[in-house]
Amino acid sequence: TMLVPSDFLLISELGMGAGGRVYKALHQPTLTLVAVKELPMASAKKRDSLKKELKVLYTQLQGLAEDKPKEEYMDMLRGKAFRSNHVVSFYDAYSTEAGFCHVVMEYMNGGSLQDLIDKGGCRNEDLLRNIARGIAKGLKELHENKFLHRDLKPANVLMGTDGKVKVADFGVSRDLASSKDLAKTFIGTFLYMSPERIKGEDYDGKSDIWGLGMTLLASFLGRFPHEISNKNAAYWEMYDKFVSEDSHHMEDQVRAFGGSQELEDFVRLCLQKDPAERPSTALLLEHPFLAIGEGRITAASDTERIEQAKKIEILEVVTCCKEHGVKFPR
Ligand code: ADP
Repeated sequence: TMLVPSDFLLISELGMGAGGRVYKALHQPTLTLVAVKELPMASAKKRDSLKKELKVLYTQLQGLAEDKPKEEYMDMLRGKAFRSNHVVSFYDAYSTEAGFCHVVMEYMNGGSLQDLIDKGGCRNEDLLRNIARGIAKGLKELHENKFLHRDLKPANVLMGTDGKVKVADFGVSRDLASSKDLAKTFIGTFLYMSPERIKGEDYDGKSDIWGLGMTLLASFLGRFPHEISNKNAAYWEMYDKFVSEDSHHMEDQVRAFGGSQELEDFVRLCLQKDPAERPSTALLLEHPFLAIGEGRITAASDTERIEQAKKIEILEVVTCCKEHGVKFPR
């Protein structure tokens, strides 16, 4: 590990996911807020392999050297090195003595789409457009690098106060889906799965497109688009509704949901049962729903927005330092 675990000060809990708790933490040497995802993994071997795999995966994606010097990590934390605009940055992972794998990532202070859904969702289509565009661009970046997300769902779409929308948790989930540690909480991990994945068939990038459609629809509705009547049989219910030959369940749902024509069409295209029929990210980015207002935000207001967000970030860091007695350099 290049970053020193004891340099991170856990501040508060940000959320509880299917995988484990997520904390807000302060990296004291750089005074940067980060998010730390705590994954319970009983086996030290598993922790190590997840750690290694994540590093390889993200160094490829982030275009960094695998054995980067500590300075490079520090620059990343300070926001000086490359940060994707649409995929949440990964900084480091380490395994703790208490039997956790800690995944340190970029902190997104706007929370996740799941938080938004829990508060009733969002009917504002301009906001939804920004969200859909962010996800589509994030997926495009992954797909162009020959990666699949595999677990796109509202909890994995995070927002910043600067209006940025990024996809998170890419790579973490694959190991979790197969982990015995998580068998009990499996429900959260398949609700947004595409029909072909539910069936256990081969899948590709189009599987992520299904996740995008479901995520967008859930954000609009303020709930998962299909009412699960029996939690214990949720898997079979989903199988029946999304996968079986004669089911047109999602098509009916989409027809009735009450968004604009463009949004409805966008969601409908993503939620086609046959993956081959679903559009690629490049096509989606040209869809009329996303084309509206692209470039409408002027450069001037963009700068203002970013300045404002920076102020909020600095204020948050200062508050954390004060509350936890961390010395703040002048
Ligand atoms: P899951 O395990 O279901 O994929 P997560 O553990 O990824 O869910 O996230 C649970 C919650 O933690 C999210 O809904 C969000 O509120 C919060 N969260 C996760 N990652 C971050 C982050 N990088 N920055 C800020 N909040 C986060």
